[in-house]
Amino acid sequence: MDTKYIFVTGGVTSSLGKGIICASLGRLLVSRGLKVTIQKLDPYINIDPGTMNPYEHGEVYVTDDGAETDLDLGHYERFLDLPTSQQNNFTTGRIYYDVIMKERKGVYLGKTVQVIPHITDEIKSKVLELGNTGKYDVVIVETGGTVGDIEGLPYIEALRQMRYDVGRKNTLSIHLTLVPYLRAAGELKTKPTQHSVKTIYEIGLQPDILVCRAEVPIGPSIRRKIAQFCNVEYEDVIASIDADSIYEVPLMMLEEGLDKRVIEKLDLKVSDKPDLDNWIEFVKSVHNPDKKIKVALVGKYVEHKDAYISIAEAFIHAGAVNGCKVNVQWIQSDDITEKNVERKFRGISGILVAPGFGGRGIEGKVAAVKYARTQGIPFFGICLGMQCAVIEYARNVCGLADANSTEFEENSPNPVIDLMLDQKDNVEMGGTMRLGAYACELTPGSMSMQAYGDKNISERHRHRYEFNNKYRDLIVEKGLNIAGVNPERDLVEIVEIPDHPWFVGVQFHPELKSTVSYPHPLFVHFIKAALEHGVQNNLVEAVQPRVKKPLAEEA
Ligand code: GLN
Repeated sequence: MDTKYIFVTGGVTSSLGKGIICASLGRLLVSRGLKVTIQKLDPYINIDPGTMNPYEHGEVYVTDDGAETDLDLGHYERFLDLPTSQQNNFTTGRIYYDVIMKERKGVYLGKTVQVIPHITDEIKSKVLELGNTGKYDVVIVETGGTVGDIEGLPYIEALRQMRYDVGRKNTLSIHLTLVPYLRAAGELKTKPTQHSVKTIYEIGLQPDILVCRAEVPIGPSIRRKIAQFCNVEYEDVIASIDADSIYEVPLMMLEEGLDKRVIEKLDLKVSDKPDLDNWIEFVKSVHNPDKKIKVALVGKYVEHKDAYISIAEAFIHAGAVNGCKVNVQWIQSDDITEKNVERKFRGISGILVAPGFGGRGIEGKVAAVKYARTQGIPFFGICLGMQCAVIEYARNVCGLADANSTEFEENSPNPVIDLMLDQKDNVEMGGTMRLGAYACELTPGSMSMQAYGDKNISERHRHRYEFNNKYRDLIVEKGLNIAGVNPERDLVEIVEIPDHPWFVGVQFHPELKSTVSYPHPLFVHFIKAALEHGVQNNLVEAVQPRVKKPLAEEA
């Protein structure tokens, strides 16, 4: 079977959930036995999102091969259970960079280098490279931005050309639009969709299927109108109604027949029924917990929840395993002081200190660690959170009152967290952190080893600073357990406090590898410990059974 390409574009507004629709379609196709991957094309000029502020871009998702990518790749991995790589995300910056490098090498000798054909050819080659690996039956290509944006034009043009290059029967165009409900008129409006489809027609990529995002169910007359005015068949108007949870979307798309239409149009050879038993079980556990606990997420970007999206999703996975809803309390680290820390964490069963960069909010994070350590509250520190745990332990247990990281105090007299030599020589900021998957060897008997059930693990990294081994003997002597070490470079990857209910700080990012089918063991064990703490301290609340609305109803 030829590799098939599905192009997904978005119209009317951003934030319609294109990434979730792509991931949901991918899940449905995987569930029918196909090999699927999803690629994201981002029309901005940065080479990758690695140097962007979390307020600007949300979380930077890191792949095993060390690419700093769009957070949608996290959804792809969580939904498909398949790792992504550098090949799954390209930006305009990367495309131009590669074209300019080729120009300097003389690849286009004698020619004027132009958007068409050179930039569009480069875009096509990035899409085809993934398809030509021979690993996939279907490549879903999500284009970032909204149709009509100037910066998106070369992408739409490249995809339009690809329909000719690889043949119409091997490509499909799905357009995601908004069908707004006007409360005053009491009606759903199709005009924005008509305009969006008209715009994409002008640039030549006719949609075969329209996924219409709406707040209320879309009835037959509106569907007929959209089909008639947008040149698609009635069955190709797919409604995507607001869902309680993103994990419900594949089931809603199944009910709407999105996968069925895709399979018919691309003539895909698949099993009759998708195997979604485990997925359905998972969605049921997410929706029907009988208890809930509050867990604090301490970070400095908490106003922008996308900055911690993989952590929030990992909590959902771990909650489902433990049969409880994890109610995340987002706590601004800037606001925490030694004085108010008890009030801030009242009613909380576990404390997670989040990753981050720069000095703002550090003292609040250190105060949160101290509270968790001294009060016996389950603690999970991730990356900067682990570094704060080391600083707190050095200051308050090892007697190094001025211990710090050189990230916040360059000339710290006791730099318990410091740059490695190879980082000291770095002059460039982009793509130069310790990035991607590294091996870690666990210490037998540690909480981490108990969670993983394995001695050798691999986890993804994104940081410059490390535990300073000059302080290792002292800190270990004072009781901190080194529970995981990178074997090649003897870098400390995990710290634990043995005589604590559950206190684990990890230098890597476990949240990036938690998926629906493989909830991350550290998150699962953290929530388990939090639940035990909650039970002992009367902090667990009962949840009333959910009155389930039908997945989709015809108005
Ligand atoms: N700022 C820290 C470092 O670079 C931690 C990074 C993170 O939390 N991702 O080492």
